[in-house]
Amino acid sequence: MRREAKGSADLNVLLDRINGRSYKAYRDLEGVWHFSEFTLFVDHTQSDPFASPSKLRVRLDSETTNLPEDALANPTRRMACASWLARAFRKTIHDIRPPRTGTGKGGLISIDAGGAEVLERTAVVFGDGFVEARIELGLPAAGRRILGGEAANLLIDVLPRIVARAWTRRSESDGRDLLHFINCIENQEIVRSSLRERNLIAFVGDGAILPRESGATERPMDRERAYPFQSPEPFRVDIEVPHADAGAPGRIWHGMGIPRGIVLLVGGGYHGKSTLLRAIERGIAPHIPGDGRETVVSDPSLVKVRAEDGRSIRDVDIRGFIDHLPKPQGESDPPSTREFSSADASGSTSQAANIVESIEAGATGLLLDEDTSATNFMVRDAKMQALIHPRDEPITPYLDRIRELYDVFGISTLLVMGSSGDYFAVADAVIEMKAYQAYDVSAKAKEIAGRGESNADVDSRTALTALTAARKRIPDRTSFDARRGRRHPKISSRGCDEMVYGTTEIDLRGIEQLFDASQTRAIGWAILYAATKIMNDRMTISAMLNELDRFFDQEGLDVLGPDHRSGHHPGALARPRRIEIAAVINRMRTLRLIRAS
Ligand code: ADP
Ligand code: MG
Repeated sequence: MRREAKGSADLNVLLDRINGRSYKAYRDLEGVWHFSEFTLFVDHTQSDPFASPSKLRVRLDSETTNLPEDALANPTRRMACASWLARAFRKTIHDIRPPRTGTGKGGLISIDAGGAEVLERTAVVFGDGFVEARIELGLPAAGRRILGGEAANLLIDVLPRIVARAWTRRSESDGRDLLHFINCIENQEIVRSSLRERNLIAFVGDGAILPRESGATERPMDRERAYPFQSPEPFRVDIEVPHADAGAPGRIWHGMGIPRGIVLLVGGGYHGKSTLLRAIERGIAPHIPGDGRETVVSDPSLVKVRAEDGRSIRDVDIRGFIDHLPKPQGESDPPSTREFSSADASGSTSQAANIVESIEAGATGLLLDEDTSATNFMVRDAKMQALIHPRDEPITPYLDRIRELYDVFGISTLLVMGSSGDYFAVADAVIEMKAYQAYDVSAKAKEIAGRGESNADVDSRTALTALTAARKRIPDRTSFDARRGRRHPKISSRGCDEMVYGTTEIDLRGIEQLFDASQTRAIGWAILYAATKIMNDRMTISAMLNELDRFFDQEGLDVLGPDHRSGHHPGALARPRRIEIAAVINRMRTLRLIRAS
């Protein structure tokens, strides 16, 4: 139903009229309202005070927001500017503290501005001549009776004050902060795009604060307690960035370049190995000023791979790592490792599948941490090899594949390994973390490896070529029915830990580089979109991911939402990587593949 656009005075009259009526009468708000500084679109009103808050858009003319021209000069700067605007909006809500009134979510105003990473998201977008914030607002009620006066206060008084303070009456210092934020993000993206030509998979700037306040937050550790990162000599690189004093002092970033190839991170327990790796894992996206990791920049196709026992695996060729499994009682054949499936994978089979699937989805480098790897997948020492004949061991440890992965397939590995020196022989570089400082110990490690203590008499029973031969997997579209008997698709998620797609629960905890709940939501809708609009019975997972990326580049995220109506509030979404989309698909217990004939 289309309504005439009316002014805020009309809104006041309407709220007065529905005051005290049943909550459903709030639906009369849906439509367009003209305010002096902006236009308010009420796209969806909640059905009761406890339901998810109502969805509103606040649209300002570009001139009103008075953004500096160079804030929007390219896609990276636009993304950063949108992120700053969303964060300013959120901070102003927090400062103004709108009164929480009545029952349920009444008075709650929110915007999905994101966390430590800056991602492309739907919270703030730039349209043709306008800037728009997508917000949620809890319409107030006493029980199920509309509190019209409170609603008027929120919409006609509080909301315009937030918009003015956050967006249109920027102080001079806010203006500087905006440009600094954008410059800081752009510097990171420019360093990122230069990594390949420098033959690096990651860069960690001198002075970076890598540790976090605790395991439960992404806030930086107190600068009094944290040792800033310092690059060790042979890995030191200088990178010139366009903006001075944005991320690091001056226009040259000094730091450690992690080369392509095989790099080990060694060192005693509790000396900062995993902390460095985690910063690199998260370095696939830019970080906000003040985060401590503004100069930690990784190749966007690095994938953290871990053991994940219990996960579901469907038809993955894991022969490169695991072959000749024992025959189960009562079966005529042993389980296939060419099309390996399991409803409850082991540590080693899950890690093998995670690697093969990551490469299928486009990984160019793997990040592994001994803390989260299956021991038998990583190494098998000489004594064990003497006892257990290779014929009776299905696992070819990662150690025996790591070199081939790089030499033949160009897949780098950065591995945290403090417990086995067997990797020295295959490493291109070895970095030691000692009391949170990085040192080059490559030469010493090579010398030790040269003493012949390593067990590198590799058996190559199964060539890793299984990886390339790995049948290009074609998903069956009917695996992705999100309706499950209902009329409308239903996809919900709990943070970055779980998604319920239709009736299928998907455990996401093993997907460590999924950092934002809004990415989880976007992945759910992207899978549904791909299943209904992109996939056919010949399209591989990898081709489907290409199409999705193209779609995101061209259309943005807005059209993904559940009940997409052109221009309406799309919900809180952030752009996921193709790697994480594939990771979710691969963990769906409903996944079926189309057999290649
Ligand atoms: P490892 O993987 O080598 O066992 P971790 O990376 O888990 O060690 O670090 C151990 C502890 O030290 C963590 O609590 C972490 O927060 C802290 N830590 C790591 N790096 C630093 C640092 N640069 N400065 C201060 N504390 C740090
Ligand atoms: Mg560790």
